[in-house]
Amino acid sequence: MLTEFHIGIDDTDSDKGGCTTYTASVLFEELLGRGFKPSDFPWLVRLNPNIPWKTRGNGALAVHFLVDQERIQEVRRIALDVVEKTIVASASGTDPAVAFLKGQVPRILREFSGRALHDVLSVREARAVAGKSGAEVHALMGIRGLIGSLAAIGADLQSAMHTFEIIAYRTRENLGRPRRIDYESVKSMNAKCDAGTFNNIDPESGRILVSPHGSDPVLVGIRGYSPQEVLDAFSEVQLDEEIERVMIFRTNQGTGAHLATGRMAADLKLHQCGTLSGRVDEVPRVMRGGHVIFRLRDSSGLIDCAAYRPTEALAMAARDLLPGDMVRVSGGVRGFRQGIPTLNLERLEVLHLVEKIERLNPLCDNCGGRCESMGREQGFRCRKCGRRVANSSKIQIPQERRLRPTVYIPPPRSRRHLTMPSEKPRISDRLDRVEEFQLRAEDYN
Ligand code: ATP
Repeated sequence: MLTEFHIGIDDTDSDKGGCTTYTASVLFEELLGRGFKPSDFPWLVRLNPNIPWKTRGNGALAVHFLVDQERIQEVRRIALDVVEKTIVASASGTDPAVAFLKGQVPRILREFSGRALHDVLSVREARAVAGKSGAEVHALMGIRGLIGSLAAIGADLQSAMHTFEIIAYRTRENLGRPRRIDYESVKSMNAKCDAGTFNNIDPESGRILVSPHGSDPVLVGIRGYSPQEVLDAFSEVQLDEEIERVMIFRTNQGTGAHLATGRMAADLKLHQCGTLSGRVDEVPRVMRGGHVIFRLRDSSGLIDCAAYRPTEALAMAARDLLPGDMVRVSGGVRGFRQGIPTLNLERLEVLHLVEKIERLNPLCDNCGGRCESMGREQGFRCRKCGRRVANSSKIQIPQERRLRPTVYIPPPRSRRHLTMPSEKPRISDRLDRVEEFQLRAEDYN
């Protein structure tokens, strides 16, 4: 009898190389090659991006197969073998872990995974959840990877909003060398496939965002809304080096899932992320380097919101806020100052703007010149003709606000993997079947 078998993997990479998506691709193809039937695309699940011990994008992976009861041991052995072979074992701070789960994913694991998107979880809790949900966990070096390996299995990628990424991997001999991709072809791919893909290029700087720069094995990764669209886009890009393999992942990238939680200022904890609404409490401060900090008050307390210069339009918008404006802010808690949390902003939604009033001295009714004040409650005198204007007060002139009640997010080059690229995300209603997208590197070399 066939049963669902889920394998979660995390933390097989380090800053010295490797990539957990690569491990998952190797495992997926290994199982496929031995005749096992996948029940879905491999999943690339991004977790809380504020976790300081992540290597890059806090990604964890899961693969899902339909396995005959009698062959489950064989699949377990293959998975552990592949993970051991692909980890960058010499690197410290790498805590590779594998989790196995047979049958349907229980609610407790779904909830754990949901919280891994925006909270900081402990290994102790991960072990407890594994015990309660019947998952088997293996830590190959340190133990922290258990959190991500379980969260990957528990993610809600089929019913909740999701996107896709196609990743092509480099051959071993090219690792560490500059990537050879025809950048003009990426630009024309972006122009042609713009509606079905996202974050290919940063429009202002022209920077190519589909190709990383480090020592990891990813040559190119294209994000989009359906397997067919990422595949079509990939076919448009000219690669000037051989690829070892190519894989399509179902992901939660570009869904904003980490910011979905409503929070209160007084309850925020270090490295959590989420969204809260409130009233701007003080005139924003512009720091050296162009970073902007403003204080926000909700019914529970205060937070400082930090919009860093690379967030560009977001930082510019933050600069123009006035006390009394109502906003909804999203981001991660970077730290606390005098007990007040500082939220690194990833999204700013302007809900309501107060009127901006400029207060000017009155005009002279004799010559039309601007008057000057003669002191507190002493009235005004015209600077031009000297006439005194006794019973007058400053006049109030409403000013135009540059801000609009809209959403401000950073430019593509400064976004998180999870950042929703536009406020109207596209949701594909097609049921894409993994069997139709089994790709062979030979076809692209
Ligand atoms: P890459 O994106 O290249 O795969 P990474 O940025 O995913 O690298 P990891 O090497 O996976 O980084 O390290 C992240 C670590 O943080 C893992 O050990 C994972 O288990 C742990 N982790 C992930 N989410 C949470 C969370 N919400 N709370 C606590 N620990 C977490």
